Amino acid sequence: MNVYDGERMAELLAEQGISLAPEGEEADLVVLNTCHIREKAAEKVYSDIGRLRREDGTSPLIAVAGCVAQAEGEEIMKRAPAVSMVVGPQAYHRLPGMIAEAVDGRRAVDTDMPAEMKFDALPARRKVGPSAFLTVQEGCDKFCTYCVVPYTRGAEVSRPFKDLIEEAAKLVDAGAREITLLGQNVNAWMGEDSKGCSVGLDSLARELSKLADLHRIRYTTSHPNDMTEGLIAAHGELEKLMPFLHLPVQAGSDRVLKAMNRSHTRDSYLKILERVRAVRPDIALSGDFIVGFPGETDAEFEETLSLVDAVGYAQCFSFKYSPRPGTPAATMDGQVPVEVMDERLQRLQAALNRDQLAFNNASVGKRCSVLVERRGKYEGQWLGKSPWLQSVHFTGDAAIGDLVEVELTEAGGNSLAGRLLQAAHA
Ligand code: SAH
Ligand code: SF4
Repeated sequence: MNVYDGERMAELLAEQGISLAPEGEEADLVVLNTCHIREKAAEKVYSDIGRLRREDGTSPLIAVAGCVAQAEGEEIMKRAPAVSMVVGPQAYHRLPGMIAEAVDGRRAVDTDMPAEMKFDALPARRKVGPSAFLTVQEGCDKFCTYCVVPYTRGAEVSRPFKDLIEEAAKLVDAGAREITLLGQNVNAWMGEDSKGCSVGLDSLARELSKLADLHRIRYTTSHPNDMTEGLIAAHGELEKLMPFLHLPVQAGSDRVLKAMNRSHTRDSYLKILERVRAVRPDIALSGDFIVGFPGETDAEFEETLSLVDAVGYAQCFSFKYSPRPGTPAATMDGQVPVEVMDERLQRLQAALNRDQLAFNNASVGKRCSVLVERRGKYEGQWLGKSPWLQSVHFTGDAAIGDLVEVELTEAGGNSLAGRLLQAAHA
């Protein structure tokens, strides 16, 4: 989502005649787009600000954007005098005005969550890569006890159906062949279709499928409670909806899930995966995990490992619990020592890596499409993604944006090699 926001900010500033500084060259203005989800990510912004100081002691104009800006606005101003703008994720359409003021030496904080949608104030999409992001929903009302998102991104808001179809069409005109629909809880998206009927993400995907030059649709991140029957069924019906589902579970123990306020159980989660697999047997599954949530015992952690064994994920993200200021879990009893979290994370990641490699190995011999996203390291080599979101490299006659047919020939943990069967210039 931050990548998407970053692109939109760049487009907005381009309208003001501000262009991206070439890599390696010094910029006059630096926008640090930040993440507040874990402490490590949040602290990074302060070291980045320090690194921007030039040898003569001056700094470029610095704007801090994103969720650290939202959560720590005034504090950033105090702690980092080099920063002249702090702008939250719902207010970045106001950046041009803030920059004009900063040039005049005025510092400003804007962490409003205005009712009007920033998206309406952003320019049209003109140039994008073959795989593009499209934010359809923002914010979260779920209040998991460890998570800052409901505080930094605000309540759940869905962008209107019509706006999304229009933006998607512009993305396709601008070169996108794959669109990933984004939201903190993307499957909670709701809208009204052209007939005024209330619809969910499956209807949006169905409508997007009609865009002839759009070949692939993905969505992330989903919440188990919003996995509707319609969305599950769509995986069996829509050819363009890729066989990949990122569905975070966080933990395998019902007691921990309850303390996290996840509102799903181990069993209800597994049942969803079963239903998705029933309609789309080849679906690649992905998830997020937190180890060391306050009070998590060894036995409860073992339940996370047994859940991993039961699912057989294709890829996953896993994190050590990070106490976030203002969240209920931060002050809960039973905070887990960091050594214990380290050990649990290592064991979990060993299991996840094992399964990822197994999934990739099982793909060898398959024929599939690959959307070419960029050149590889070697002459004539191309990099792209399989339908199951695996990185695939191959050599041959292709171009960025092509959807080519490849036979997967060799697997590693993080990527696969393929043999080009048929080039199909898009
Ligand atoms: N809305 C999505 C997740 C958004 S946050 C969902 O509920 O599934 C992305 C991931 O960051 C979460 O899935 C969780 O695994 C991780 N995360 C969030 N808060 C965290 C914290 N305080 N410590 C460690 N990991 C955290
Ligand atoms: Fe955070 Fe996701 Fe829970 Fe919302 S549902 S509070 S974004 S972890």
